[in-house]
Amino acid sequence: MSSPVLPSRGRVRPLGLAQVTLTGGFWGERQAVNATATLAHCESWMERLGWLANFDRVADGTTGPDRPGWPFSDSEVYKLLEALCWEAARTGDPGAEAAIKRLTARIARAQDPDGYLNTCFGHGDQPPRYSDLEGGHELYNTGHLLQAAVARLRTHGEDDLVRLARRAADHVCRTFGADGRAGICGHPEIEVGLAEFGRALGEERYVEQARLFLDRRGHGTLRDIPLGRAYFQDDVPIREAEVWRGHAVRALYLTAAAVDVAVERGDDELLRAVERQWERSVARRTYITGGMGSRHQDEGFGEDWELPPDRAYCETCAGVASIMVSWRLLLATGEPRYADLVERTLYNVVATSPSSDGRAFFYANPLHQRTPGRPADPDEVSPRAEGGTRAAWFDVSCCPTNVARTLASLHGYLATTDDDGLQLHQYASCEIRAELPDGRPVAVDVETRYPESGTVRLRVAAETPGPWTLTLRVPSWAAGATLIEDGRTRQVPPGLVRVRRAFRAGELITLDLPVEPRFTWPDPRIDAVRGCVAVERGPEVLCAESRDLPDPAALDALVIDPGSAPRAGAGGALVRALLPTLPSTLPSTLPPARPGGDWPYLSRPAAPPGDAGWIDLPLRPYHSWARRGPAGMRVWLPASTPHPEGE
Ligand SMILES: [Zn+2]
Repeated sequence: MSSPVLPSRGRVRPLGLAQVTLTGGFWGERQAVNATATLAHCESWMERLGWLANFDRVADGTTGPDRPGWPFSDSEVYKLLEALCWEAARTGDPGAEAAIKRLTARIARAQDPDGYLNTCFGHGDQPPRYSDLEGGHELYNTGHLLQAAVARLRTHGEDDLVRLARRAADHVCRTFGADGRAGICGHPEIEVGLAEFGRALGEERYVEQARLFLDRRGHGTLRDIPLGRAYFQDDVPIREAEVWRGHAVRALYLTAAAVDVAVERGDDELLRAVERQWERSVARRTYITGGMGSRHQDEGFGEDWELPPDRAYCETCAGVASIMVSWRLLLATGEPRYADLVERTLYNVVATSPSSDGRAFFYANPLHQRTPGRPADPDEVSPRAEGGTRAAWFDVSCCPTNVARTLASLHGYLATTDDDGLQLHQYASCEIRAELPDGRPVAVDVETRYPESGTVRLRVAAETPGPWTLTLRVPSWAAGATLIEDGRTRQVPPGLVRVRRAFRAGELITLDLPVEPRFTWPDPRIDAVRGCVAVERGPEVLCAESRDLPDPAALDALVIDPGSAPRAGAGGALVRALLPTLPSTLPSTLPPARPGGDWPYLSRPAAPPGDAGWIDLPLRPYHSWARRGPAGMRVWLPASTPHPEGE
């Protein structure tokens, strides 16, 4: 069966990708753009920058110190390859199949006879193999190669890609096995790659190698670095850690592997450790968008409550990695809170990154952009992750290929089965043709304009002999949801709603989720947004954009009336907002400022700015921001309060 994650046990089982088909709608459209634009876009940039030719140059013996790209550029080729494998299986697209063969042939030529495969180390006058485990990313690259091979194996079967990945995995096991070098990679990823490759092949020793890598970390195994060993989670053993810290993508890839190993080994202590870390990190270190990582300097988690909106890093890859973790925990436990976070992250991080044409991407996903970014040149590599506009490609370009492989396999994250029935975790227009473990078929068609509309219609597409249980997730925000089935309407609380009976072919079950816009208030310990309120609508976080204001500068100082509930409005919501009158030139500090000069700190509370009157401020889905061009943007909106001086 084809699926990115196939645990050998768990509370629920993923469906194969062939059992679910997205039929348009929010995600179907994005998956189609990914297929028709993003995959070719990624390949052409990697060709243009020489990241693909790096493999040819190793094969030809011509590589040298002028090798272009970072040490991890090989991994982008592998992530694209993974995306192509899912895509070729999804649509039978001969173009995707040809690209797989084309890329595989070039990669295969670069593999050394002993299985080592890397374009940055160990050839010509390059540094020796594994001479920089902290920063070299060799095992990280191999981990992504293994994930690509998993996709190929499960959608196609053994071929050159699978065979070369097996040689690479064997090389890793020989070099870093129990009797080998006790090293680990500075960037976790080999662990999750080995665990899944082991599951896909039924090779226990690959899972064991993943466990070895996991348990070696956290003991000061790597050299210390200026950012500290927490940067690569080598400060505390994963079984003892209380919270995610350091580089967010590293922490989350590592955690995904920990779930895999815990599940395969029946290691409940490890699984409980991961759940504990998930709970605290989600409660205290996660943005309202589901974004993770507050700090730019190390692309990392901040301390508890350190969630500044304007300096939010929220790397797109961290969103993808967070979904990897929560999806695995969902499969292990069946708990809806994991699907809740997957949904939040999908709509507000993954959907935010790609441009509508699939040829530009956000790398960082801040919640407040003060200065509109410069329009990105579609022909230019963006040197850095920030900028406020989507860029065609990055110097460090991990995010586009991560989006690509996620969208290509997205239909695999919607539903699961257990011994008794079918569970729907995410709502998208799709056709599900699954099989229960006892061999009975279940077929459901989902029709919805979610998240624009909260109405989800499920039509039983074929008769299943005997009773079975249909389980639907009611999202945590959806208080007041109703379910209509078998002629009855009833309220269903957030959590899981189960309907167990024999279903007739053609019968309709309707879930109505209330997607009216709503206020969401932050925990006061998140100092950076104290006194602010956000507006959400269904699973979407909304934001204000400067281009919707008569004076774009008013975005800095507007306040909204928290006593007036947000109303549905074109594309999102409307809130009652008081616009400030602002001086048109500097000094820009709100009056009254210090006499004789501008200085934004006063000896008494600042009087509020003059007001230019109340307006209905349009709010739009955060994932749509900057699609109309560069703009200032904010998710958290200051709520008006009576002035302390009673003004
Ligand atoms: Zn990234």
